[in-house]
Amino acid sequence: MSTPVVKVQCTQCEFRSSTSVVEGRFAYELPGDARLSLRRRLGWCFDCATIRPVEDLTRDSFEAEFTRLTSTLAKVENELAKSKTGIRALFRWSETRTKQSERNIAFFRKQISEAALYGNLLASRHSPPRCLQCSGQNVIPCELPQAPKDTSLLVTRFVHPDCGGYLTISDSGMRLAVNYPTVRIYSSEGVYLRDDDVPRDQW
Ligand SMILES: [Zn+2]
Ligand SMILES: [Zn+2]
Repeated sequence: MSTPVVKVQCTQCEFRSSTSVVEGRFAYELPGDARLSLRRRLGWCFDCATIRPVEDLTRDSFEAEFTRLTSTLAKVENELAKSKTGIRALFRWSETRTKQSERNIAFFRKQISEAALYGNLLASRHSPPRCLQCSGQNVIPCELPQAPKDTSLLVTRFVHPDCGGYLTISDSGMRLAVNYPTVRIYSSEGVYLRDDDVPRDQW
């Protein structure tokens, strides 16, 4: 998998960065050595004076996702249950399809238990979102629109703090396909702890 690298510059000064700063593997360390994927978005850190990945602690998007996951799980479970009775059982729902449904159910259950852990984290969280580079709290979200598909420059409405220029975005034409060997580990209060070497398929 690869993601496009979007250049971020300023209309007034030499500022340069890219939206790929949010890419990578980030996790919270929970009690009992459990890990939880860290939700993040692009933000402006006044301490780092640049765009950084910042924690996304918004409850709304989390709640909407939780509802979506539970209703999808119910649907898949229902489908599978139906396949074992009535007319479909006569036609013997294909083995492959049943296996697929079972895999989907396992997947959604895992997502739901992660979401529940995330809900607990949000509920017990004291500090506001932090910059995932310096762990500072002097951050604001930096919502940037989609970059144009061609190489043209789009002037965003985001004002470059302390400069007054506007941030611009453009597609660099490059794609990022990095297999991050390490996970950046954070406390449940969003403070950076360390990098851990963890194989790609596990936390
Ligand atoms: Zn500037
Ligand atoms: Zn920072």
